Amino acid sequence: MPAAAEAPAVPDTLQARAGALDAADPLAPLRARFLLPPGVVYLDGNSLGALPAAVPPAMTDAVRRQWGTDLIRSWNDNDWWQAPTRIGDAIGRLIGAAPGQTLAGDSTSVQLFNALTAGARLRPGRPLLLTDPDLFPTDQYLTDSVGRLLGMGVLRVRAAELPRFLAERGDRVAVAAYSPVDYRTGELYDMAAITGAAHRADALMLWDLCHAAGALPVDLDGTATDLAVGCGYKYLSGGPGAPAFLYVAQRHQAAFDHPLTGWNGHADPFGMTRGYAPAEGIARARIGTPPVLSLLALEAALTAFDGVDMAQVRAKSLSLTGFLLDCADTLLAGLGFSAATPRAPERRGSQVALRHPDAFPLVQALTARGVIGDMRAPDLLRFGVNALYVSHRDVLHAIRELRDITITGEHRELRHQLRSTVT
Ligand SMILES: *Cc1c(COP(=O)(O)O)cnc(C)c1O
Repeated sequence: MPAAAEAPAVPDTLQARAGALDAADPLAPLRARFLLPPGVVYLDGNSLGALPAAVPPAMTDAVRRQWGTDLIRSWNDNDWWQAPTRIGDAIGRLIGAAPGQTLAGDSTSVQLFNALTAGARLRPGRPLLLTDPDLFPTDQYLTDSVGRLLGMGVLRVRAAELPRFLAERGDRVAVAAYSPVDYRTGELYDMAAITGAAHRADALMLWDLCHAAGALPVDLDGTATDLAVGCGYKYLSGGPGAPAFLYVAQRHQAAFDHPLTGWNGHADPFGMTRGYAPAEGIARARIGTPPVLSLLALEAALTAFDGVDMAQVRAKSLSLTGFLLDCADTLLAGLGFSAATPRAPERRGSQVALRHPDAFPLVQALTARGVIGDMRAPDLLRFGVNALYVSHRDVLHAIRELRDITITGEHRELRHQLRSTVT
């Protein structure tokens, strides 16, 4: 029996620990709020969240009844018009934002452009935008473009060095655009400390929450964050290409000069008047007609968080990532792996990245065995844990399969070397 033959490879203590941790997990019932195919261990919820069970019926209703039957009346009768602000508020609950400050819509890239441009306009006369050289590429491309557009300089300063830089040269900085979690290594930075440093320099803090929203507690109002953006399809599980979100702190809204002055953000959109006059509040950040079906999918997906305490999500996420690192220490010792993710819990987001020169074929071979993670060039295997649907047993299974593949050399087979467009 192959299972019995494999069993001695896993020390009983890891198996027993996984079982005990799962048995004591208060969030275990949330797994039933997601539809995952049997036999799959899904550790890529940091790229595309799993499908929440509430989404398919909500989509059927949105398409058949709201669109098919109610037709254009749905803008009023099914409240399509308010969807961006209503769903924005639902996201706000997960990121420490009181109602009226978060808007759902467009992509993170678009929202970054809006936030960077409007942020720079809130600090006229300051010539610099700051960003992290290790930040996700789209953030850097957009910061460079906004710099060119507004005639500003762009400086790249690592998050870890940002407070010191701001203390010394912060008086020239308009906006500091950073992510609290490194998308490759999963390193977590202290949002409150960095935001405080920006404010001592009277610069604005713009957080990209793509790898934080739904993954760990975020306190935008409590940290007095100025602007934030984030992704709907990662830990929020809103579906492929789900609308992103933009947060504008209440105190900045009256002066918030949105660069994309679409008619949906007008004070009187159906007055069809000539000049642009921005709406009150966060609604002024609206652009054009929103993708209603995608918004309704995201709204249904967010119900997976109903009654869920983000502190519990964080506790479980740390337990999962800590356990994953322990499993890797024990089961992958001597096989060429090293952890790229910090060991200290307070410096860890909700993913673990392991370095290995064969990262690409290893991830391919793992996927073929039903363990789905991803890789980032050149040598990182990334395992995202969404505490709503990943268990300690899943984590142990994943590392056990990785060990088996590495020892047998299965990843060297030709079929695991072929690259698709998306990695
Ligand atoms: C995932 C991610 C994005 C994605 O941007 P899109 O416009 O949705 O493609 C942007 N920034 C960061 C930090 C990300 O992790």
